[in-house]
Amino acid sequence: MIFAKENGRTIPKEDKVFALSGRAKEAIAAKGKDAVINATIGALLDDEGELVTMTSVVDTIMSLTPTDYAEYAPIAGTPAFKEAVQKALFGNFKPSGHVRVCATPGGTGSITSVIANYSEVGDFVLTHDWCWANYKNICSQNGRNLATFSFFDDEGNFNAADLEAKVNELAAKQDQIVLMLNTPAHNPTGYSMTLEDWDAVIGILNKASCRFALFIDVAYIDYAGEDDEVREFMPKLEELGDNVLPIFGYSASKTLAAYGMRCGAIVCMTKDEETAEEFKKVVEYSARATWSNCNRAAQVVMGKLYAEPELQKKADDERRGYRNMLLDRGKTFEKVLNDNGAKCVPFDAGFFVTIACDDPAALGAELEKQDIYCVSLAKGIRVSIASISKEKCVKCAEAIAKLLK
Ligand code: PLP
Repeated sequence: MIFAKENGRTIPKEDKVFALSGRAKEAIAAKGKDAVINATIGALLDDEGELVTMTSVVDTIMSLTPTDYAEYAPIAGTPAFKEAVQKALFGNFKPSGHVRVCATPGGTGSITSVIANYSEVGDFVLTHDWCWANYKNICSQNGRNLATFSFFDDEGNFNAADLEAKVNELAAKQDQIVLMLNTPAHNPTGYSMTLEDWDAVIGILNKASCRFALFIDVAYIDYAGEDDEVREFMPKLEELGDNVLPIFGYSASKTLAAYGMRCGAIVCMTKDEETAEEFKKVVEYSARATWSNCNRAAQVVMGKLYAEPELQKKADDERRGYRNMLLDRGKTFEKVLNDNGAKCVPFDAGFFVTIACDDPAALGAELEKQDIYCVSLAKGIRVSIASISKEKCVKCAEAIAKLLK
């Protein structure tokens, strides 16, 4: 008997990625970890295949008192957490307008919140065609549709022309658009939008006939490159017109390498105080009505890490080491792919590299026969370089290039 209501959602029997990762784990149990390449996991693993944790974070967790984790957190987060998020998100950039922060369960919660609060039921939310699959699920869960523009043109450059075309198409139907851009170190391609790309986006939005909630999903910002460089686009957002509200989705899961702590935030920056107060009102209301408040222990950890300069430096130094390991894996993967006559979708940094192909499911199945587990997407195959060693990056890139031939 069927009791559950689909409510317009298409709910698969099992999550494709978790099922694939389950098969990879079975193969590891049967053949040993050296024989298997499990490039499905969206978390950072060291070269031995162990989850990376940061000593500075773990030590701070261990220093918590019972009240730190047992007490409810305020809906928007503790004051120290809200300060910490601004430091972590903006780095040395100081927004000139009004900033408001609300805690969310991971970056995922910030996506739910922006969609629930800045689009209407039945609306189209716009993002790039290469995107985190969960964007679509979150839209569908909230009764919204996902529209996409081509992220790249034929030369592999940011496709501003298609963004403009899709914006104009939607502007004819909606007076407001949630536009979601995942950068820097985009999932699944690893692309980081350039300052020129940002100029183009700002030009398009400023002259459009509708309003925008411009949602910038910076989940991977701390793995994208040097702290100041990867934040260079932020001051540009102050050139946006009154018709655009910039909103950030921040993920402490990645920054602290503490995915299970479910900590993140939604953050707005605006010249208009009324808009900022309205943001605070709506995101706090919908937080209360969905997850209520968030994990207090994680907020206390964030608060401590960013309040004590020495501790913050320790965490930043640790993360820099892991970031360099990840960048090295990514560049190695790309080079081996290129040396073998194949190429990836434009890649700069981050947890994933993607290779476009005509039949991703068939390529994924062939790789699986060689005990290489990668996620097949609609237009390509995604390799989590975050979860495999440099040595395995080489093997994986060689295998993919060979199969593509
Ligand atoms: N945004 C993107 C593009 C992601 O890939 C992820 C996680 O994989 C998130 C946001 C949210 O991560 P979390 O909710 O674990 O912070």
